[in-house]
Amino acid sequence: MNIHEFQAKALFEKYGVPVPKGTAAKTPDDFVTALAQLPEGPTMVKSQIHAGGRGKGTFTDGFKGGVKFTKSKHDAKEMAGNMLGKTLVTAQTGPSGRKVQTVYFTVASDIKKEYYLAILLDRATSKPVIVASTEGGVEIETVAHNAAEKIHKVHVDPAYGLADFQVRELVFKLGFNPTEAKNAAKLIRSLWTMYWETDAAMIEVNPLITTPDDQVLALDAKVSFDDNALYRHPEIVALRDLNEEDSKEIEASKFGLSYIALDGNIACLVNGAGLAMSTMDIIKHFGGNPANFLDVGGGASKDQVVAAFKIILGDPNVKGIFVNIFGGIMDCNVIATGIVEAVKEVGLKLPLVVRLEGNNVAAGKATLDASGLSLVSGSTMADAAQKIVKLVA
Ligand code: ADP
Ligand code: MG
Repeated sequence: MNIHEFQAKALFEKYGVPVPKGTAAKTPDDFVTALAQLPEGPTMVKSQIHAGGRGKGTFTDGFKGGVKFTKSKHDAKEMAGNMLGKTLVTAQTGPSGRKVQTVYFTVASDIKKEYYLAILLDRATSKPVIVASTEGGVEIETVAHNAAEKIHKVHVDPAYGLADFQVRELVFKLGFNPTEAKNAAKLIRSLWTMYWETDAAMIEVNPLITTPDDQVLALDAKVSFDDNALYRHPEIVALRDLNEEDSKEIEASKFGLSYIALDGNIACLVNGAGLAMSTMDIIKHFGGNPANFLDVGGGASKDQVVAAFKIILGDPNVKGIFVNIFGGIMDCNVIATGIVEAVKEVGLKLPLVVRLEGNNVAAGKATLDASGLSLVSGSTMADAAQKIVKLVA
C-alpha cells in the first residue's frame, strides 16, 4: 500500500525525521487556511499523487512541473490553482497520468547539497538494506547505471537491528561534515525505526538535503507498506487513498483475488500465480496482449470466481476471455459453476476460451456443456491461447 508525501512526512515527524514544515489542501477554499499555518516566505507547491518524477512532470493542459517553487505564500496560492484537479503525467504514471486531488504546501528549504536515501527489503539477502548516495535529486536508476560506485549499501541483520558502526560507516561514506554527520546519523536511525515499526516495504527520501546551517532534512518522501502486515496497523490502513487505486483492483482485493490491471485486451482468469504468469507469456507469444493478471488462488470459492468474472467483464478494453485452470487443489467444477453463474448475472458478448485440466475436470466440462454457453474449448494451453488470440484479432 502506498501513501502520499504529506502523509509520509507526518509519519516522519512522528518518528523524529526532520522535514520542512508543510500543510495539505484538498479544495481551493482550503488553500488560505492551509497556508496560514506556514511562515511567510519562499514556499513549494507539490502535487500529491502516488507516483514519483512529479517535478519533471507535465499536466495534460500543458502546464509544466508538478512541484514548483514560489517566492511567497500569495504566489503559492496562485500556483496551487494550476495543479489541483488537473491531470499530471510523469515518467512513473504512464501516459494517462494521475488527477491531483491534494496539493501540499511546504516551506522551501535552502539546499546546500542533495543526497539519496532509501530503506527497502533486499530479496537477494533476505535483509533490509539501506541505500544511500551523494547523487540525490536525480533518478537513482540512472546513478546505478552510470556511477554504481556512488551508491552505498548497508544490510541490516533483522535479528540484531541497525548497529551504530553501520550508521557511522554510511555517514562517513557520504562525506558529511561533523555537524551534518551527527544530524544525518540521527535521521537514519529514526528512519530505520519507522521502517521497522510500521512494516514498511520501502521508504525513499530523494532528495535528502543539507542546509547552509548543517541541518539534514527529508525534502521528499515516498513510502509503501507490506500489505500482509497491514492488519496490525489500522492507523496506516486509514491513510489508504482509494482515488489512487484502480477500481477493479480495489474490487478484487475485497474478494481476496490477486488482480493487476494491464493494458491489453485478452482477460485471463487463472488459478495460481505461476500459471497466471505463464498464461500472460503464452498470450504474448502468440501475438496477443493480456488485459490483466488474475490469480483466483488454489482454493477459490464459486463466489470468488463470480466476482473475478464480473471484474473482467467490467473492463471496457477486454475483447476476449481466456480461462486457464489447472485443477491441482482447485476443483474444475467450482470454476465452471462460477463462470456459468457470473454469465447468467452479467451476460457474455465476448469470445470465451476455456482450458480446464485436472481435478474433477469431467464434471467441470459437463457443467459448461449443460449451460449452453457459447464457448470454445482448448485442448492444451497453446491451443487455447492461439484460439483466443485469433478470436480477438
Ligand atoms: P519528485 O521526486 O516527485 O519530482 P520532489 O519532492 O523530489 O518530487 O521534488 C522535486 C524537486 O523539488 C526536488 O528534487 C528538490 O530539488 C525540489 N524540492 C522539493 N521540495 C522542496 C523543498 N521543501 N524545498 C526546496 N526544494 C524542494
Ligand atoms: Mg523526489
